[in-house]
Amino acid sequence: MALRKYLWKPILNYRHSVIDRYTTIESWESLSEEEIAALSTRRLQSLLDHAYENVPYYREAFDARPAATNLTELPVLEKGDLQQNFEGLKSNDLPSRDWYKNATSGSTGQPTTFVQDSHYASFRDGLKLVFDEWGGRDISDPKVKVWGAQDDLSTGTSVRTKVGNWLRNLTWINAYSMSEDDLRRAGRVINDEKPVTVHAYVEAVTNLASFLEDHDLSVHSPASVMTTAGTLRPEMRAQIERVFDCPVHNRYGSRELGTVASECRYGTGLHYCPMLHHIEILDPTTLEPVEPGETGEIVVTLLTNYSMPLIRYRIGDVGSFRKVQCDCGCRWPLLSNVQGRVTDHFVTPDGTLVYPGALRKALYHYDWIDRFQIHQTSTETVVFRLVSKQHSPPESDLEAISSRAKNVLGTDVTVEFDFPDEIERADSGKYRYTISDVSV
Ligand SMILES: [Zn+2]
Repeated sequence: MALRKYLWKPILNYRHSVIDRYTTIESWESLSEEEIAALSTRRLQSLLDHAYENVPYYREAFDARPAATNLTELPVLEKGDLQQNFEGLKSNDLPSRDWYKNATSGSTGQPTTFVQDSHYASFRDGLKLVFDEWGGRDISDPKVKVWGAQDDLSTGTSVRTKVGNWLRNLTWINAYSMSEDDLRRAGRVINDEKPVTVHAYVEAVTNLASFLEDHDLSVHSPASVMTTAGTLRPEMRAQIERVFDCPVHNRYGSRELGTVASECRYGTGLHYCPMLHHIEILDPTTLEPVEPGETGEIVVTLLTNYSMPLIRYRIGDVGSFRKVQCDCGCRWPLLSNVQGRVTDHFVTPDGTLVYPGALRKALYHYDWIDRFQIHQTSTETVVFRLVSKQHSPPESDLEAISSRAKNVLGTDVTVEFDFPDEIERADSGKYRYTISDVSV
């Protein structure tokens, strides 16, 4: 076992100084709030200086605002801006940087391409090691991933990937193959590998937990289950914790920004490292900061990618700041209520934006609902697609759901129910809990 670690650590460091980055990030865990503020401001300023000096798009944006003295006077960067200004967003000193192209899988409908570099990648991987450590996993301790971005899996058979997985002590389970046989096999893999942590798509691991529980199958209990790529609803967390008999650490990230935030063992919220990601929470309409604690759009400035700086990047997710001190002692700020895509927000007939969580709550605590999708087809109509475990769902429950939906969307709205056998996945393979055809 130790062999892997002794081989893997120097390889990691040789490749992108990942161990050095990890050690640096670890040292930031014990900084005071004042030290964090000073260091993160300095790091933000050096990115902005670089952007002004080297990135045509930002040189223009700054010059157009001669009085601009701080970040918030710059425009937010939309996904569409990334495509339209791809060349202008690249740093002039790109040839001297160890850069590569990356892209999102396009789960929101539009694939996005961008440039990243090894400086960014080393911090990204270093932060992952820190978050893994919070979940009880040391480097090269066994980990099972229930994962499935297709381009991550397509390389799964090459010798290089196999050696890499062995060194990392990683076992992959395909999150998209979830037939009964696959789920049984997944349970066996976890029992054989005895991972210290399971890192999984929220939806996939909930599915697995639910299967194991329904079939009364016992499963190895890791130190933690880390969930990502989706909204972790309270009943999902409860079920995963019950079945795997360990805490869930919810994590948040994206391909553009890397892993951004993670819960520690206290679960107070998701800590993010302000030396790596500068985060603002903005009102989706006015793009002004929301009141402290209020939910709004997560807008991120990535402080480590100098090849194509993402400054005030509108990632499309929502969340809020949690202004409390976590008992773990780490003073990195906390996010909470991180969820969904803004494009899935609903709109009332008078034009008010409704966060999908408000409607999803209408479905809590009904055991007969196996899966659901809430679809706003027009401002006047919302359809609840419910995969029911029972032949005929209780009429009184449907009335309660309907009245809850009307409370949220308006009494004139028509609430329809549909009871399909299964709910189709989006092209990305992820379930969409909420869809709105109404544009804001
Ligand atoms: Zn904490």
